[in-house]
Amino acid sequence: MNEYPAKIIKGLKIDPQIFTFRFSCKCSGECCLYGVFTDFKEFEKIISIKDKVIPFLDETQSADTKKWFEPPEEDEDFESGVAVGTNIVNSKCAFLDKNGLCTLQKLADTEGIHKWAYKPIYCVLFPLTVYEGSLTIDDEHIDRLKTCNKNPISETTIFEACREELRHFFGEEAFNELELYKDEYLNILKA
Ligand code: SF4
Ligand code: SF4
Repeated sequence: MNEYPAKIIKGLKIDPQIFTFRFSCKCSGECCLYGVFTDFKEFEKIISIKDKVIPFLDETQSADTKKWFEPPEEDEDFESGVAVGTNIVNSKCAFLDKNGLCTLQKLADTEGIHKWAYKPIYCVLFPLTVYEGSLTIDDEHIDRLKTCNKNPISETTIFEACREELRHFFGEEAFNELELYKDEYLNILKA
C-alpha cells in the first residue's frame, strides 16, 4: 500500500496501486491450475448444484464431490469467516476442464444466467484480491505464476483490465465511487 489516504468502499480499503499497476492478461489461464479459496457459502452453493455440475465434467475431472474441496479453515477475509479451497485434480482446479474452461461458468452459460453466477468471487477478482480488509493486487500469486503478467506490453492498468469484474464485485453504485476515487488519485499524481 502506498502513502495516499485510504478510501473505504463497501467496508474495504482500496489500495490505489490498482490504478497504476500495469497488467496484461494474455496467457491461457495458468491461475486456474492452483485452485481457489471459496467462501463457505459459495462452497455450499456449489455442492447444492452438484447434480447440475457433474454432467459438465470430463474424464480429467472427478465426479466424486468429496474430491472437489479441501477442509474448511477460518479466514476473516471471507464473508462467512470460513474459507474452503478447491482441490487440485490432475494438476488443475477440480472445476477446470481439459480445454481450460471453468465448469461452473460453462454451466451458467448453458443456463443463460450471469456467467459468474456460480463462480467463486476470488476467481472473478484475480489478479486482484481482498487481503486483510483491503482490495489490492495479488502480486504474490502473480509473481509465483510462470506466465501471468510477464512482460506486460500494454499501458492497461489492472483497474482497466478488471473493470467488468470490479463492477460485478462492487455493484454499480460502489463501482462509480471507485471510479471517482481513481480519477481523484490520478489527478493528484499528475499535479
Ligand atoms: S490472470 Fe494471469 S494467470 Fe490468469 S489468465 Fe490472466 S494472465 Fe493468465
Ligand atoms: S473454480 Fe473455475 S475459475 Fe475458479 S480456479 Fe477453478 S476452474 Fe478456475
